[in-house]
Amino acid sequence: MLKIGILEGDDIGLEVVPEAVKVMKAAAAKVGLAVDWRPLPIGRRGHETHGHTMPPVTVATLKEVDGWVQGPIGHNAYPRGDATFINPPLRKMFDLFASVKPVKSYANIASIHKNVDIVFLREVTEGMQSSSVTHAGTGEFRPNDDITIGHRVITRKGSNRVARAAFEIARNRPRRRVTAVHKEPVYRLACGMFAEECRKVATEYPDVKFDEVLVDGFAMKLVMAPQPFDVVVTTNQFGDILTDEGAGLVGGLGLAPGLCIGERQAMAQATHGSAPDIAGRNIANPYAMIMSGAMLFQWLGRNRGMSAPVEAAALIERAMDRVIAEATSLTADLGGTASTSGMGDAVVAAIG
Ligand code: NAD
Repeated sequence: MLKIGILEGDDIGLEVVPEAVKVMKAAAAKVGLAVDWRPLPIGRRGHETHGHTMPPVTVATLKEVDGWVQGPIGHNAYPRGDATFINPPLRKMFDLFASVKPVKSYANIASIHKNVDIVFLREVTEGMQSSSVTHAGTGEFRPNDDITIGHRVITRKGSNRVARAAFEIARNRPRRRVTAVHKEPVYRLACGMFAEECRKVATEYPDVKFDEVLVDGFAMKLVMAPQPFDVVVTTNQFGDILTDEGAGLVGGLGLAPGLCIGERQAMAQATHGSAPDIAGRNIANPYAMIMSGAMLFQWLGRNRGMSAPVEAAALIERAMDRVIAEATSLTADLGGTASTSGMGDAVVAAIG
């Protein structure tokens, strides 16, 4: 039995998360996987019902679950003055150290490139994002009005574990290749430490090919010829930029799923935000959230040594491939006319 939290978030989160959960429930039922689902308040709903956008009851329950599905947080949806950040503190609190972001092109979906199938791993607990690397205050300060100083934290532990997670993922993919992206010749100590740890981990995975590319050259190669890349591991700030660039290559935010992973827990969360411009109209693309749910099942299955969640994930992936290929139940951003729930229903039907 897996325990999985459901945190809908704000705006289109209220529409796409229920579709992801509907599809996950259908796949779980098909493979006989028991799941204890725990709906939990967060965001505006959390504020309305518990007076807080990240209610203590939600945090306490997340400590007990195997993982959770979390919709986007829309800060504009909050009452003025209550724009508590949720994602960085949650990642820090639960030590969700890597953001895993697949970038996959489809033959019949408009995209800059075809035959792209990359998984990015971005370290998300250190680097330059201040709330992740400081106990109090931020990683930036301004000693006088003419100077601003920001810091970047790189640790052996943080670099080693994100590299290890990348090799574990690569080991289960046909091409078995990991590319570490950094800028060691310039940032000799920080990128140097990250690169050293990647090289160390690579020696433990002789079955996986390993190479390194400097971040500026990588950004160019990603635009011109992304096809050779398989699994790409990088530090926080570089990953922040490259993963959005990756999403842009294959059709945009509606097609960009994600999973934040820790040692024992994971959070399914699409790359896109809460899209207030289209919220409440049942037109948001549920692909990214549904595929994030599939990633959660696959990761939990591998992490816990359970085959049923891995099978459920494979069922969802195959069903989604079919829905995309048939192209009769796609949302407007993919060139179709289906509603959010209509596309979710089609995936459920394809699961059978
Ligand atoms: P956004 O990702 O919400 O929207 C950007 C554009 O993409 C919009 O035009 C939107 O309609 C479109 N879009 C996004 N997701 C889509 C989907 N599933 N289907 C179809 N179209 C989609 O980015 P934004 O407008 O900059 O941010 C809106 C809010 O979301 C802000 O409050 C921001 O802070 C928040 N945000 C939250 C997260 C998160 O919680 N993970 C991530 C990014 C932004």
